[in-house]
Amino acid sequence: MLAALLAASEAFAAAGPKEAVSAVAILVYHRFSDTDDDSMTVRVATFEAHVRFLRERGYQIVPLRRIVAWLREPGATLPAKSVALTVDDGHESVYERLLPIAQREQLPITLFVYPSAISNASYALTWEQLRAMHATGLFDVQSHTWWHPNFNVERRRQSPAEFERFATTQLQHSRELIESKVGGHVDMLAWPFGVYDDVMRIASKLGYVAAFTLKARRLDRSSPLLALPRFLMVEDVTPRILARLLGEPDAPSVPATEAHP
Ligand SMILES: [Zn+2]
Repeated sequence: MLAALLAASEAFAAAGPKEAVSAVAILVYHRFSDTDDDSMTVRVATFEAHVRFLRERGYQIVPLRRIVAWLREPGATLPAKSVALTVDDGHESVYERLLPIAQREQLPITLFVYPSAISNASYALTWEQLRAMHATGLFDVQSHTWWHPNFNVERRRQSPAEFERFATTQLQHSRELIESKVGGHVDMLAWPFGVYDDVMRIASKLGYVAAFTLKARRLDRSSPLLALPRFLMVEDVTPRILARLLGEPDAPSVPATEAHP
């Protein structure tokens, strides 16, 4: 009798948090502007409309780490409707356009940057800007590899041993640079071009706890930690389309936007 009760309560506890969570998703942005500059740019007004829509529909914008903890720790809980915001590549518009909105709206945001561009490429953020954003307590700065290679191309070009060393350096050096120049702990990774495959093994060996793709789907507790899906946000993603992506029950049926990874 007692054993049966315990088994039932354990089953309930295991099912409880899982069933309570109805929609968990990660969004990924790249660049911000007043105008629709290119396929990877989202207008500031569109981003603000996304945030407004999420709040009106009862979503909580949570730090990405909170979703990762929910995936990794059986006892961890998450609001029923949770969305995390991420921004890849470290474009200068993240400081100029996104930072003021993040501060005004108190938005937790994870930045995935590749250090070879930082304080180097004309379009990129500087280490000083990254430190300033990190100091707000809103921004988590994480790895997008060292110089954003296409692992599929490099794998074809190199011997297996060379590729192993190459990928290891890409994942390791990126983390070392971000930790030493910005601070914080780097254990999350966004796959350049969404390419991961066998490189996941190296990420795991190096102690990365979560890595993110560009696969357009929501998460559940069975999502693979080193290939977690994210919805690519482009200018065409209106709140109506966002509603549909997130599986809102009354979302009108509209065609999904084309993805441009
Ligand atoms: Zn990228």
